[in-house]
Amino acid sequence: MSLDDLYREVILDHYRNPRRRGALEHPDAHADGQNPLCGDEISLDLAFDGDRIADVRLQGRGCSISQASASMMAEAVAGRTLAEVEALMRRFKAMMDIESGDPGIDASRPGAALGDLEALQGVRRFPVRIKCADLPWATLAQALESRGAGSA
Ligand code: ZN
Repeated sequence: MSLDDLYREVILDHYRNPRRRGALEHPDAHADGQNPLCGDEISLDLAFDGDRIADVRLQGRGCSISQASASMMAEAVAGRTLAEVEALMRRFKAMMDIESGDPGIDASRPGAALGDLEALQGVRRFPVRIKCADLPWATLAQALESRGAGSA
């Protein structure tokens, strides 16, 4: 099995069996994200325990890339501190070439721990789909900002 096939399997698995599906009854932060180019939608709820993301739930619809990325993102950030989440977000964007990444970041390092998210790196070859892969992260950033504004 080639790496491309393996990545495709991982993406399809998250698309068909999305993790952390649903909504929270009393979320500490919430955001809705849309990618009009593709018709992708994500609705994200977060619950905090101090500066740690205690719970993540999301709903959405759209293409397999956006929904698989959302499922992977939810799994990756659940239980993490905000500092860890920011580091993950930077690593993901560096891997996807969304930002001219920090040269000190090597997404292939074991410590970088992107896990299943690494399956999305093939999407770089399809620039129009990068927005699909990034939608959950953009929505997460919005939710974190809305929380910062509320608790300040
Ligand atoms: Zn899409």
